[in-house]
Amino acid sequence: MNIDVRKLKYSGLTETEFEFCYKPKVNILESLNSASCDQISVYGTLELHTDDVYVDLTVECAIVGECARCLDTAIYNFKESCEIKFVRFDAGEFDYVYKSGVIDLTDAVNDVILTNLPTQILCSENCKCLCTTCGSNLNKENCKCEN
Ligand SMILES: [Zn+2]
Ligand SMILES: [Zn+2]
Repeated sequence: MNIDVRKLKYSGLTETEFEFCYKPKVNILESLNSASCDQISVYGTLELHTDDVYVDLTVECAIVGECARCLDTAIYNFKESCEIKFVRFDAGEFDYVYKSGVIDLTDAVNDVILTNLPTQILCSENCKCLCTTCGSNLNKENCKCEN
């Protein structure tokens, strides 16, 4: 996910839009038990300032995993937007650094996902869990334990 800022400068532009389809090399969803996402869509705008580059970033993906309550399939639609500043020189601050005129969004995107990941995903907010006695999925059936 690279954007060549030099090309932009040469063409006299200070702003551009971008769009990427991203497949992470490492499992960034590790903290969510057995969750996965096929495709992460990354898009936004980039704005050049003197040395710094401001990126308005949106990260969107469908996370598929196990419902934390009933273990059925659960889908979580992840969408986060944020503004990220890339600096040319590392001043030891919490900014991202770009090198040789190229912005690499990978770390920023991974960070956006990691810091906004839910702690668990549910098949539905009203998921009724499994019966703690017989293990029946109470979304699908009424077990007879209650009485
Ligand atoms: Zn559930
Ligand atoms: Zn039961």
